[in-house]
Amino acid sequence: MLLDRSFWYRQTNRLIIVVSFLLTSIWPISLIQPNWLHPILQLITPVVSICALVTLIVSLAVFARTRQQPSRGSSFLVYMGMVLTSLILLMTTGHFDSPYIVLWMITISLAGLYRYYGLISIGSIVTAYTIYAIADPTIQSSSYSKIIISILIPAIISFLIWRRLSSSAEPVRDYSALAHELDQVSNKAEIILNAIADGVVAINNAGTIQIINPAAERIMGWGKQDALELDYRSVFRLTDDKDRPLAPENDPVQKVLLINESITSNDFTLLTANGKKMIISLLVSPLGPTGSGAIIVFRDITSEVLENRQKAEFISTASHEMRTPVAAIEGYISLALNPDTATIDEKARSYLQKAHESAAHLGQLFQDLLDVSKAEDGRISNNPVSIDVTSFIRDLIGPFQSRASEKGLSLSFVPDVVKEGNSVIEPIYYVSADPSHLREVISNLVENAIKYTKEGSVTIDVGGDSEHVMISVVDTGIGIPAEDIPHLFQKFYRVDNTDTREIGGTGLGLYLCRRLVETMNGRIWIESDYSKGSMFFVELNRIQNDQIINQPPRT
Ligand code: ADP
Repeated sequence: MLLDRSFWYRQTNRLIIVVSFLLTSIWPISLIQPNWLHPILQLITPVVSICALVTLIVSLAVFARTRQQPSRGSSFLVYMGMVLTSLILLMTTGHFDSPYIVLWMITISLAGLYRYYGLISIGSIVTAYTIYAIADPTIQSSSYSKIIISILIPAIISFLIWRRLSSSAEPVRDYSALAHELDQVSNKAEIILNAIADGVVAINNAGTIQIINPAAERIMGWGKQDALELDYRSVFRLTDDKDRPLAPENDPVQKVLLINESITSNDFTLLTANGKKMIISLLVSPLGPTGSGAIIVFRDITSEVLENRQKAEFISTASHEMRTPVAAIEGYISLALNPDTATIDEKARSYLQKAHESAAHLGQLFQDLLDVSKAEDGRISNNPVSIDVTSFIRDLIGPFQSRASEKGLSLSFVPDVVKEGNSVIEPIYYVSADPSHLREVISNLVENAIKYTKEGSVTIDVGGDSEHVMISVVDTGIGIPAEDIPHLFQKFYRVDNTDTREIGGTGLGLYLCRRLVETMNGRIWIESDYSKGSMFFVELNRIQNDQIINQPPRT
């Protein structure tokens, strides 16, 4: 504080107000009742009082306008008024012999407050005045020592003040620069927040709304002034799929405050101030350490979701409708190919064979599309039962044997075994999963393994630990280039190279596998050596014997 220049400007201004007020009031008193005044005060002339009055008015005006933070310029103006007043006082009361010499000394001592221009201007005034005073015949009565002391002491004090405040000048400038910078940053932040089309709401550790941008006001139908400082739950009202307010354990904001990790979701419905419901895309991120606050960013995606639903519905209806005639075509071609039901020549048989394959492919494509559209709009049903994975897969791969041997491949199932003494035990791995989903996933993987392997083998394995069951499908086929692996489980993604171009497919099988495995709370991944083979893994949660329900009969 004591090194703060504006503090001293403020104090100097106050001191000048007091002194100039006293000097101003002496003249009217001398007019009314001169006897009340001490002889020294009677020396004060009207010119001094008028000068003091002007200084008083200016200093009061400056004080009123810049009460907290007088600027250097305004403070210097007031100070110069005081310098002029005390100079006239000195000149009219005996120069260096004046009883007011101390006031003069104090006044010019303060020049150091105003840096170079304070020192230079006051130095020039003092020099000019001293020359003038020495030249004046009345100076004879003043001793030179008095003159030197009255100049030297203020000069030293002034220099010391200047040095002391100069050393603190940097921080002072830093503070104001910092304040300016902060001001600019907060302005920029506000501009950005206002320009964002997504709703942004920031809450503190108590869940109280601290910031709300115009987009959030518009989406939620809440005015800024009403929403600020309210609990976010009364403004940002999320509902579950039955339109009830979210339970605290499902509230994403509460979760973020608790676990300090971001949450994104497209599954929440927001209830606006006027009761309108909208589906929102939501991102909640923590603000600093756990529980210190969160920032909620959201967007209305109701129309997008409805549009996607309509698209999925269209695809689903179209593929369902088209599957029926394709199945009929496939059936009639089968009848034509059957020697018991039709007689055709060899040429016609080869054409019909090709037509049958294409009809089967088309049928599969429609089936895949139907499954994908179900997966997309959350219509995948999930009816988990306890499944003994080893026996389930053994039964499942039976029908694939003929297809593998047609291509000259060996298809083997080698579930893990454990040795206990002399006996070898095949552990039983149970999972709780929808059997149709598991069948579809494993069939897809085995089908692909046969399809993309020209020679060698396809090996299916089941293993696991106390928590998980892992099914692997390993082939010695064409493999997958490393750059394609990250995209493999995306919709319609097919590896495009000379190896695959001849092999038909839709790029939907692995995507569907991923969606189905996710529905079963498992995970699926792949490891592959290009041109050496691929390994697909499916991991599901293992259940213990006491959790087994609806166990399907072992076949
Ligand atoms: P597709 O109908 O094309 O087989 P999938 O989604 O089942 O569609 O597979 C996506 C792509 O992954 C395939 O086009 C193929 O390039 C590659 N792929 C899948 N399985 C294998 C495999 N076992 N070996 C080599 N490539 C495979």
